[in-house]
Amino acid sequence: MEISFRGKHALVTGAGKGIGRATVLALARCGARVTAVSRTQADLTSLVQECPSVVPVCLDLADWAATESALKNLEPVDLLVNNAAYASLQPFLEVTPDQFDQSFNVNVKAVLHVSQIVARGMKARGSGGSIVNVSSQASSCALRDHAVYCSTKGALDMLTKVMALELGPHQIRVNSVNPTVVMTKMGRLGWSDPEKARSMTARIPLGRFAEVEDVVHSILFLLSDKSNMTNGVMLPVDGGFLAC
Ligand code: NDP
Repeated sequence: MEISFRGKHALVTGAGKGIGRATVLALARCGARVTAVSRTQADLTSLVQECPSVVPVCLDLADWAATESALKNLEPVDLLVNNAAYASLQPFLEVTPDQFDQSFNVNVKAVLHVSQIVARGMKARGSGGSIVNVSSQASSCALRDHAVYCSTKGALDMLTKVMALELGPHQIRVNSVNPTVVMTKMGRLGWSDPEKARSMTARIPLGRFAEVEDVVHSILFLLSDKSNMTNGVMLPVDGGFLAC
């Protein structure tokens, strides 16, 4: 199955590292022009060195006003990947208001905001489009020390469904990918301890964590016209974790 994004403009958030960075590079390989949003300038500089066609935007998505001014004059976007997220793990009884606010600001509120900016343009042009939100298996399975993170991803899945409902009539599809653990910077935060990692892989029928490329391939599928009738779904990329 060949996927081409020739002639399309894609916007990817959280593009400096991990899944977002690999998604940018894969989209560019498939012919898309890509705008890459991330928070650390050094990551964006090295990304542009690796792929000179990428347009970098250095931005903290937790800042609503800065997001508005950075993205409002972007050239029309056809494909959006809301990938940036914040994870800070702590026992439920120790969660602070700051951890809660930072998590919801990036993982939910910024998704709503960036999607509003992009979808308003898609609607006005009548061009349709495809949006993929990067959620998690944590949206529907309780994980110890993940009270806030799980809550943000549960909220994100509902946001995905309502966006699919309201934007569908404008031929804008909205779906999510819901990966299991991937050993990126974020994955290492929670799962570096071998014993803890084993306790998770033991619950995954395929017996391993996901690779970055496993997630990227599912994102590309949902962005592409190969999934033209798929709207409002949460696609697990979890080796069967959520099936059990
Ligand atoms: P990484 O930590 O490797 O990369 C996250 C990227 O997002 C970084 O470039 C980071 O920039 C950027 N980012 C974070 N906050 C902001 C912000 N406020 N503004 C702009 N950019 C920001 O994470 P992953 O690649 O692992 O995660 C990508 C997505 O996949 C997330 O939505 C995550 O929840 C989801 N996911 C990850 C899993 C895993 O195990 N890794 C499992 C399931 C889902 P900087 O480093 O400068 O902060």
